Amino acid sequence: MKIAILGTGYVGLVTGTCLADCGNEVTCIDKDAGKISGLLQGRLPIYEPGLEELVERNGREGRLRFTTDLAEGLRGSQIVFICVGTPQSETGAADLSTVFAVAEAIAKNAEDSKLVVVKSTVPVGTNAKVFEILSKAKIQHRAASNPEFLKEGAAIDDCTKPDRVVVGVRDQQSTDLLRELYAPFLRTERPFLVMSPESAEMTKYVANAMLATKISFINEMANLCEMTNADINDVRRGIGHDARIGFQFLFPGAGYGGSCFPKDIRAVISMASEKGMDSRILLSVDEVNEAQKLRLGQKITGHYQGILKGKVFAIWGLAFKPRTDDIREAPALVLIHNLLAAGAKCRVHDPEAMGNVRAQLGDRIEYLDRPMDAVQGADALVIVTEWQEFRSPDFAKLATNLTDKVIFDGRNLYEPKAPAAFGLTYHSIGRATTQG
Ligand code: NAD
Repeated sequence: MKIAILGTGYVGLVTGTCLADCGNEVTCIDKDAGKISGLLQGRLPIYEPGLEELVERNGREGRLRFTTDLAEGLRGSQIVFICVGTPQSETGAADLSTVFAVAEAIAKNAEDSKLVVVKSTVPVGTNAKVFEILSKAKIQHRAASNPEFLKEGAAIDDCTKPDRVVVGVRDQQSTDLLRELYAPFLRTERPFLVMSPESAEMTKYVANAMLATKISFINEMANLCEMTNADINDVRRGIGHDARIGFQFLFPGAGYGGSCFPKDIRAVISMASEKGMDSRILLSVDEVNEAQKLRLGQKITGHYQGILKGKVFAIWGLAFKPRTDDIREAPALVLIHNLLAAGAKCRVHDPEAMGNVRAQLGDRIEYLDRPMDAVQGADALVIVTEWQEFRSPDFAKLATNLTDKVIFDGRNLYEPKAPAAFGLTYHSIGRATTQG
């Protein structure tokens, strides 16, 4: 099939590449000329495991093309995916201006009939508005919803082996076309769920709202564990074996971030409020998360009795989660801002996200290529992202290098006794501090 992708970011690039990889002819369009010229020269705008090789192969074999020219990119395509950003607006609602702008552009430029599929995460009713915009064109187009559930860091697997594909459609022809398109990804009996565009739009938000709720819930319980001498890790295991609860998304930490959960939760709150409803659970989820992002900083301040001036902190992990370079709403940025404001210095390491952080913070902090280099000359170590390479450090070396022999772990990477055996004081989330 001939496919056009409008918006070549995390979702557009991964979707376009995976669709090309199963034989479709895909053109990825973006208004960002720098991004497109980079892609044409084989430079990826994002880090996503396995993506570079797939882009290279499908580009070489002529199935994956990149352009800034919308009219050219649309030419001949049967399906056009809208994958542009839907950031949070000032009111908290999703900003849909780009979605509507590209719908207008499709209506204006398409030379033949398209199935326009909204993949961006959008409030209920957006698809109907996109359909309305398309209906003004001389050519008749169809519109469908197909929310994306991929996780950054595992995006290719999520795209090619999805738990389910959700489509919101108005007619059988759209259903059939999308079913055919997704067939290669659904060979292991994964469900293709057909519903109305409104239900599809809502499904995406409800999925993210549920996941964010689990995170804020376990973080609140972790904080209570600290006050009651219970250990959240034992509690987590104690509840996770209950099949009704399970283990997924019940790891306490430094708060959720990223380009989706924070804005999507606020979009649902805003959708509810527009209907005169208080989304009391999600208001709390958001509030608990904002407080949790401050938690590591509070532990540090407590340890140093409020005096951080001149202290040097090694920080491991900047991305909002491992296996990505995405730093949107990352808890590490909140922590760094607060440490700098208190007069401390930061020596940071992240396997992939340092370039993005440097673009924001410049030389206000130091960037080190290896985790142990960041620790050299630091007073304390703070862990914010659970990259695999931080899981088995040389504690003896850490104890030698950290002047104050202290670790603040926002991801509970270690058994508390392990660092303590090397004389390190170890603070984690929802567990008692162990003294070296
Ligand atoms: P992104 O910011 O990485 O990419 C959006 C792209 O759209 C950018 O490259 C931008 O230059 C381009 N763009 C903006 N205006 C354009 C225009 N007029 N014409 C052409 N291109 C234009 O965003 P993303 O993370 O890929 O997210 C896209 C959507 O998918 C959002 O609604 C998001 O909520 C949703 N989503 C994201 C993820 C994720 O993990 N990132 C997962 C599921 C759903």
